Amino acid sequence: MSVITESATCAPTRTDARSTGPGALLPVVGAATRVPLIDGSTRTYANLDSAASAPALEAVAARVTEVLPLYASVHRGAGYLSQVSTALYEASRHTIERFVGAREDDLAIITRNTTDALNLLAGCVPPGGKVLVLDVEHHANLLPWQRLNATVLPFEDTVAGTLEALARELATTSYALVATTGASNVTGEALPIDDVVRLAHDAGARVVVDGAQLVPHRGFSLAETGADYVAFSGHKTYAPFGAGALVGRRDWLDEGTPYLAGGGAVKHVRVDRTLWTTAPARHEAGSPNVIGAIALAEACETLAALPDGALEAHERELRLLLVGGLVAIDGVEVVRIWADSVEPIGVVTFNVAGHDPGLVAAYLAAEHGIGVRDGKFCAHPLLARLGVPAGAVRASIGVGTDAETVDRLLVGVRAYLADGPTATYEVVDGCWTVQNDPRPLLELHGLSALAGTAAACA
Ligand code: PLP
Repeated sequence: MSVITESATCAPTRTDARSTGPGALLPVVGAATRVPLIDGSTRTYANLDSAASAPALEAVAARVTEVLPLYASVHRGAGYLSQVSTALYEASRHTIERFVGAREDDLAIITRNTTDALNLLAGCVPPGGKVLVLDVEHHANLLPWQRLNATVLPFEDTVAGTLEALARELATTSYALVATTGASNVTGEALPIDDVVRLAHDAGARVVVDGAQLVPHRGFSLAETGADYVAFSGHKTYAPFGAGALVGRRDWLDEGTPYLAGGGAVKHVRVDRTLWTTAPARHEAGSPNVIGAIALAEACETLAALPDGALEAHERELRLLLVGGLVAIDGVEVVRIWADSVEPIGVVTFNVAGHDPGLVAAYLAAEHGIGVRDGKFCAHPLLARLGVPAGAVRASIGVGTDAETVDRLLVGVRAYLADGPTATYEVVDGCWTVQNDPRPLLELHGLSALAGTAAACA
């Protein structure tokens, strides 16, 4: 398996991204934040790292500000504000369920993030149930299953070939669960969920969709796809207040190992024995993240209120500008898993041949004010199979991204290749940094320069 350029399938007809292109789809907090460059100037931050953590929607920040005065303990408080906060928390759960098309008998458990949600589900797979997963997954959708001795199926060169391999495996062994990505955090691609669900259900297996990247970028419905569970994160869904969700079929969640042992998850406790309650409370012991859940629900409502297809159209256009611009640069290779995948989300990973991705990313930040991600993206098996074991650079698009931001990346990569870095860069603790970096960190942190802070980005 090797790096494939997208030029054949995804090249845009327009080559100059500077002339036209969409603006941001929704206002996000911090869109105008300026960051220092090493030449002493400042530039508006070009945030192309939404796939890691997306900025808060302005609507989310406003909602959090609105509800904070109402915040009080939930579930067991007798006070008026406790009643209000409980109502807000439970209403948020239902908003989140609706947003991912939950069926009548599905339920949402409020988690910290996708990793938390998938680990929770791993404790609910019926004893002895086998799990099947592909080697394209983020570690969050691989390691919880590895602990259950999951079968890890190698992907094939094409979507069609991979679906055939999946069908063959499902025909030979009986599985309880197929864990599949909704969209790869490396390439934005995915297998068609409907097909995966059909194959799995025909073989008597359930399907969990890792929706960490899919849900913020595309409409998704459990009811329409038939998927049994979906996990996603608030901090990738423009609600960075520490909540995520697992939504899906009630029976496994009612019976599964309580995710956390503690207050709120029980019906009755004796010193020698506990009678656990059913889901969702069964898995939400301890004080829940009320504000996080309200923030996530607000993000869900704001995204759901977009006109049909607007999210998809915004991403499609920006992705075409980005990929088209990158593949037009000599020496830049865009990474793909499958030659025949369609409509990847706005996540694009690339390499500049012969150049360390960490250096390229550090240069883009220090000399252009651009935030991208470099490394192995918590998907080591995938990167090894793609022939880029040392990592790559990833740019990702969100609702706050506009064409100008995409263009800045293209300008930055071209400048890197044409002129090279101005500063001297070195590897400190495994991380590329600017030697004697003059950029000040925020006064707030009591630090005067970035120099010597490399460990923070390892
Ligand atoms: N799955 C995918 C596809 C991801 O991209 C990520 C995070 O990057 C995760 C799971 C884990 O998400 P979190 O860190 O919010 O738990």
